[in-house]
Amino acid sequence: MTDRLPRVSLANLPTPLHRLTRLSAQLGVDLWIKRDDLTSLATGGNKTRKLEYLIADALARGADCVVTAGGPQSNHCRQTAAAAAQHGLACCLVLGGEPQPPLGNLLLDRLLGAEVHWTPKPNRKSRMQELAGELGAAGRTPYVIPIGGSNAIGAVGYVAAMDELLGQAEEAGVAFDRVVFPTSSGGTHAGLALGAKRAGFGGVVTAISIDAAPTDHAFLEEVAQVATEAAGMLGDSVLISPAELEVEYGYLGGGYGVVGDTERDAIRLMGRQEGILLGPVYSGRGFGALLDMIAQGKVAAGQRVLYWHTGDESALHAYADELLEGDVG
Ligand SMILES: *Cc1c(COP(=O)(O)O)cnc(C)c1O
Repeated sequence: MTDRLPRVSLANLPTPLHRLTRLSAQLGVDLWIKRDDLTSLATGGNKTRKLEYLIADALARGADCVVTAGGPQSNHCRQTAAAAAQHGLACCLVLGGEPQPPLGNLLLDRLLGAEVHWTPKPNRKSRMQELAGELGAAGRTPYVIPIGGSNAIGAVGYVAAMDELLGQAEEAGVAFDRVVFPTSSGGTHAGLALGAKRAGFGGVVTAISIDAAPTDHAFLEEVAQVATEAAGMLGDSVLISPAELEVEYGYLGGGYGVVGDTERDAIRLMGRQEGILLGPVYSGRGFGALLDMIAQGKVAAGQRVLYWHTGDESALHAYADELLEGDVG
């Protein structure tokens, strides 16, 4: 059970599950949405569920500050800054790339009191360790949270989330054929895949990679390892193998964090048909991919599909020009 592990409350749970009526009629599938954009931690998102376990672990270890890393518009960093503030912990963020103007999540990081350190993207992990070393030498007790919060402790948040979804689905009288969500560092995928297997979920769990396809099997082996380790923490002997992890690649478009037609069209469609904001980097790309899979018949007509909104609309303001391209309104 997921209540075996220490947990702090950061999210407003359960997040809503509801049907997208207008889009269902338009697309010919029975389309539902799980609103993890409404976890409510400083605009919400999927990292909040992971942080409930990660911050509890940090506190149990006597930490007085957390160190984590991400991209300039990282939703993980923004939610970590908010979670740390709520628990009286200082927060150091290592962001990959050149310093950028304080828009979107970067503005929120600053308002939430995080200290931002810029470093070239490939150096993020080593810079985190270096910072933690400096903090320790200065008498502080740092706790390093991996990129995306994607270790076994964080993944447990999405095992619990899968239980939550399946309970709500049963109540609503819908058995999903497929659950679709955007993936990057893999912790959400690890948790959902494990949660699905433990619960005997009969549908398919499909992760949409927002990154480039890896050139070897190492990444999915790592995700499977995180899932298996999370099972162990829950006192469960379930094993997850890489073959059980379904990932769709091919939606990288112009690159990580680059808004193109796929994201722009998906964000506009969801906004204009359902009044829901998707984000530019993850949820817009993931939903655009689902639209493509429906158009191509990879998702069959009439299927009951759940799109998991992972919450990154707070980055929209950093992409105003790309999002409005070609818009005459
Ligand atoms: C981090 C993030 C993801 C991907 O989750 P991982 O656990 O890192 O794979 C998806 N959507 C949003 C909005 C995110 O911030």
